[in-house]
Amino acid sequence: MTENLDPFTISQIQLQDACKLKGYDHQLYEALSEPERFVQIKITMKMDDGSIRTFKGFRSQYNSARGPMKGGIRWHPEESASLVKALSAWMTWKTACVDIPLGGAKGGIICNPKGMSNRELETLARNYIRQLADFIGPNIDVPAPDVYTNPQIMAWMMDEYEKIVRKHAPSVITGKPLALGGSAGRSIATAKGGIFTIREAAKDIGLDLNGAKVVVQGYGNAGSWAAKILQDDFNCKIIAVSDSKGGVYNEDGIDAYKAAEQKEKTKTVLGLKGTKDLTNEDILELKCDVLVPAALENVITRENAEKINCKIVAELANGPTTPDADHILYDNQILVIPDFLCNAGGVTVSYFEMVQGYYSYFWTEKEVFEALDRVMTNAYRSTVKQAKEFNTNNRMGAYMISIERVVDAMRLRGWL
Ligand code: NAD
Repeated sequence: MTENLDPFTISQIQLQDACKLKGYDHQLYEALSEPERFVQIKITMKMDDGSIRTFKGFRSQYNSARGPMKGGIRWHPEESASLVKALSAWMTWKTACVDIPLGGAKGGIICNPKGMSNRELETLARNYIRQLADFIGPNIDVPAPDVYTNPQIMAWMMDEYEKIVRKHAPSVITGKPLALGGSAGRSIATAKGGIFTIREAAKDIGLDLNGAKVVVQGYGNAGSWAAKILQDDFNCKIIAVSDSKGGVYNEDGIDAYKAAEQKEKTKTVLGLKGTKDLTNEDILELKCDVLVPAALENVITRENAEKINCKIVAELANGPTTPDADHILYDNQILVIPDFLCNAGGVTVSYFEMVQGYYSYFWTEKEVFEALDRVMTNAYRSTVKQAKEFNTNNRMGAYMISIERVVDAMRLRGWL
């Protein structure tokens, strides 16, 4: 039988497994297994060439028991309702895992932003918010950037929302530019948070990060910053990186900044001087110490899990590993830092951005990262402890902590 790679099905399998480990019955599983609300919208707009295009968009609001819901907006040609629902579930477990007072949501538009002008991007952003304004807000649901969206798009979205409610409401959105109430450190927060967990994981397995070999699959915001920070702060050797067009490899090391410059200039890391080309499949199977999947979901599957040849998998991407692959990596004693723990730095600093916005008082980058380190290290330690106690993998450890927190909040509210 082929492996089911539908993202929402995968998120439900994981939840089911975690509920079993916790001893939760089917009624509790059902209470946790679908979004509270799922909104589908249609955006019709004029393109620069005069043609009319219609786009499909989504917002999935999964669980609000612990606070206003929170989650990014992806613009991608392969966006789907199932993916947005899965990502909104993972956001719920993520905010609970790092114990910040927020719920989980996610949004997306099926589109190819790479082929659009600035005016088209702005029109799409403003339309999305107009359609969803009744469902979002600083105390309801707070969007943020994700794949192929950025601070400029967040600024347009915030401005559109403020026009509708006719007042300043900066905490309706996070990941804003600094000049509009963004937080210091937000743009590198996902990578920075992931690296705090890699540092802890390396300590646990006695891996010296100085000179450790690192492979980064997906050289976008999260991946490229992870490479730069691992190189600068820990003297790691980045031996391969990739993007949607393919990967580049040099056993003696690739300069993370030069790779970023190459991608900035030519839109791909391919062709970087002194490197040899590899496919995205090959780069995942390279022998290394730390493998960082930082692109999209379902890249480590039943098909290739046996060939993963590293000590730590640090999942900066959401959903890179399937449930079958999880079992194989666990049996092979590869330490996995699961996605909703490893990449929680972004939402944590988004939460700091909301707090700073409420107070209209802004922290230094040093203050942001010190607070982030405390949150990430605590979450990593609790996850590993829970996994050990139940003799299970770290993903299940993280799930068990998170679902218990969500269930407690639902019980206290009288929902259960
Ligand atoms: P991004 O758009 O900045 O970068 C994505 C990168 O992945 C691009 O370089 C793209 O070329 C590459 N890519 C796309 N398809 C690929 C493929 N098939 N193989 C290899 N590379 C491919 O996005 P991002 O914000 O860095 O997000 C990457 C992952 O991290 C996503 O799973 C996202 O959900 C997750 N994440 C991001 C944040 C954040 O704050 N940016 C927070 C949490 C999780």
